[in-house]
Amino acid sequence: MKIYNTLTGVKEDFVPMEAGKVKMYVCGPTVYDYIHIGNARPYVIFDTVRRYMEYRGLEVNYVQNFTDVDDKIINKAIKEGVDSSVISERYIAEALKDAEGLNVEPATVNPKVTEEMPEIIEMIQTLIDKGYAYEVDGSVFYDTKAFDGYGKLSGKNIDELEAGARIEVDTSKRSPMDFVLWKPKKPGEPAWSSPWGEGRPGWHIECSVMAKKYLGNTIDIHAGGEDLIFPHHENEIAQSEAANGVQFARYWMHNGFINVNNEKMSKSKGNFFTLRDIVAEVPYDVVRFFILSGHYRSPINFSRELMQAAGNGLDRIKSCAKRLDFLLENSDGALTEQESVTADESKKFRQRFEAAMDDDFNTANAVTAIFDLVKFANSKVDEGSSRGLVSTVKDELESLCGILGIRLDKKKADIDVEKIESLIEERTAAKKNKDYARADEIRQQLSDMGILIEDTRAGVRWSVM
Ligand SMILES: [Zn+2]
Repeated sequence: MKIYNTLTGVKEDFVPMEAGKVKMYVCGPTVYDYIHIGNARPYVIFDTVRRYMEYRGLEVNYVQNFTDVDDKIINKAIKEGVDSSVISERYIAEALKDAEGLNVEPATVNPKVTEEMPEIIEMIQTLIDKGYAYEVDGSVFYDTKAFDGYGKLSGKNIDELEAGARIEVDTSKRSPMDFVLWKPKKPGEPAWSSPWGEGRPGWHIECSVMAKKYLGNTIDIHAGGEDLIFPHHENEIAQSEAANGVQFARYWMHNGFINVNNEKMSKSKGNFFTLRDIVAEVPYDVVRFFILSGHYRSPINFSRELMQAAGNGLDRIKSCAKRLDFLLENSDGALTEQESVTADESKKFRQRFEAAMDDDFNTANAVTAIFDLVKFANSKVDEGSSRGLVSTVKDELESLCGILGIRLDKKKADIDVEKIESLIEERTAAKKNKDYARADEIRQQLSDMGILIEDTRAGVRWSVM
């Protein structure tokens, strides 16, 4: 299995530190709103990396954080007149619903900044003690010049960076490249006590601390979006390697940018979408399939036409599976001699699939192998086939799709809209009568049917997972 390592700029054989076990850290979202499609891509990509490693027999310890202390969260809390934890808890719950909708396996642990404060303070103190950080009037900054390897991930040169940096109003820093580890409290903000007074951590320190606490000083894989390479991941390396004295992450994986209608997604351009905006139009599984149809390191372009094409592609796979299901119910007998040749041929697609995935998780080629298996099934399996052949081909198709987290069992066409709506009505009535146990039971029943419900101001909205 080869991984393109951003740190070395080449594809390398993946060899975990401990045989059979993988320590993987993925940067998670800042929870001030529903996750956007820029968050959905790494969710799906790195979940697929994990699933493929598990398929290859590796045990993956998968850590993904939630940034629950941030200016955006605080600003939203002030606007709504609530505590910032109300905002972060709300959007953590929503992010988890979206992850479930995308069929992302739950992380081994989802640490939150607010719950890691003692460890954060401890690492900042270590950095001060070792001469990599300094305090000025209640702020603590990382001294980038003290760390020799600064710039090694992004390939940036610190002197050039410094020359190009804007003169900042904040003159308490020794260099404009230094970054904040601890900020002093401002009125109305959440704050924690520390040796440097009341305040809160800067953004970068949390990932260094959580990776160390849940995975150890050196981890196998660190992953995230390409936009995080600089400064976030560069700063994580500076913090972790200075504090721990050993290499931080052995393989760095980054997914490419997201464009919308061929333009970079941004709030100012009005082409900024949350995942909920998208799943109001297409089911979650189409979004997942769409993301996997491209190579994870290439930019991906969201447009209605491309989503539609992905939906059509997924439908082709699902109708093949449905047809095989039907044939399975109506066939019997073991493989004939001639059929065993066909059965063997059907297993060749798995070799192509594995070769693609072993080559830096080329899901685009893996999906092509699945499409070719569909074509093969459509031409070689029919009413005259034995049960033995039908089940061999069907198992292959289901298994390959399953490795990519694509479920074939929940089909939109099979959805009983009337039943769903009557269950939702019953749940609304149960809530009105304060029968929360029944309301939860119905939510679970819907979830088992593959239906995700969401309570909005305008009423209950439902979508297909
Ligand atoms: Zn991070």
